[in-house]
Amino acid sequence: MNEVVPGIYQLKLPVPLLGDQLAVNAYLIKGDKGWLLVDSGWNTNQAFAALGSQLREVGIGFEDISQIVITHFHPDHYGLAGRVVELSKAKVALHQVEKAFIDSRYVNMDSLLNQTADLLRAHGVPEPELPRLQRASVGVRQFVLPISPEITLHGGEVIHHGRFDFEVVWTPGHSPGHVCLYERAKKILLSGDHILPNTFPNIGLHPQSGEDPLGNYLHSLAVVDGLDVDLVLPAHEHVFTALKQRIKELYQHHTERKAAIISTLREGPGTAYQVSLQIPWILNGVSMSFEDLPSLDKRLAVMSALAHLEPLCAEGKAETIRENGTIVYSVRAIQ
Ligand SMILES: [Zn+2]
Ligand SMILES: [Zn+2]
Repeated sequence: MNEVVPGIYQLKLPVPLLGDQLAVNAYLIKGDKGWLLVDSGWNTNQAFAALGSQLREVGIGFEDISQIVITHFHPDHYGLAGRVVELSKAKVALHQVEKAFIDSRYVNMDSLLNQTADLLRAHGVPEPELPRLQRASVGVRQFVLPISPEITLHGGEVIHHGRFDFEVVWTPGHSPGHVCLYERAKKILLSGDHILPNTFPNIGLHPQSGEDPLGNYLHSLAVVDGLDVDLVLPAHEHVFTALKQRIKELYQHHTERKAAIISTLREGPGTAYQVSLQIPWILNGVSMSFEDLPSLDKRLAVMSALAHLEPLCAEGKAETIRENGTIVYSVRAIQ
């Protein structure tokens, strides 16, 4: 527990199996009547105990939390919220796009699993590998206690809390309903997973991502680039200051990824899966080949390749043909 700004405490919540690696930063913010919690961590006994003990260090208990803002519905941010609500009666706020997906993602998952399989199959994942990739995220379901948010965010509203006024900034890309919180007067940005100081957030095309998650992400970077920010409080890693510099690096990263994909296609046409096999990946800071990635990361890799391939088609640099139901990408011949 660390008071990063007067009235804002950064809590570190462990990740299942990995412990402190990739720990989630939740933020606890002092108000007049209750406390605001931004993100909740995974629903594990370990994360729950870590949250409880850090609340005690601040001098409060679960019952003092009056509101929980979830930056996005990934399990590391949303998983524990239901359990906190059981103890606090806190109101949970989530963007409307993701509120609509809670049921299909965490409760009645069959339809989403089928859509995921269809997408992976169409993009070249071989049948023997398909079930593993399709079901790779089912295991994390045990670390989420689904709760329907009471407050629906749209972006643009202001959450008044104690001496803070947080503007909700809708930043789709990493996830379709991702939000950042911006304190204009204090020049503080709670960036969620939209912008992290070291890791490049995964941007993937999947059944709930919308048609152009990378385009959305780059647009969301431009939105945040337009804000006057001195201090960034991200949901992983550490607090940092040079936001504009980091945004430049993120643009650069995606430009390089697109270039790597195009040079792969120059050697011959391929599906998103085949492209994924040929470009390098980074997992927890370590460069890896596709074959060495765990199943969930393989799936994220194919979806990330896809998120870069589709804009390349829209830009006229690549094109697709369908071969027996499979979508094959190639470099577009110069007209
Ligand atoms: Zn995330
Ligand atoms: Zn995260």
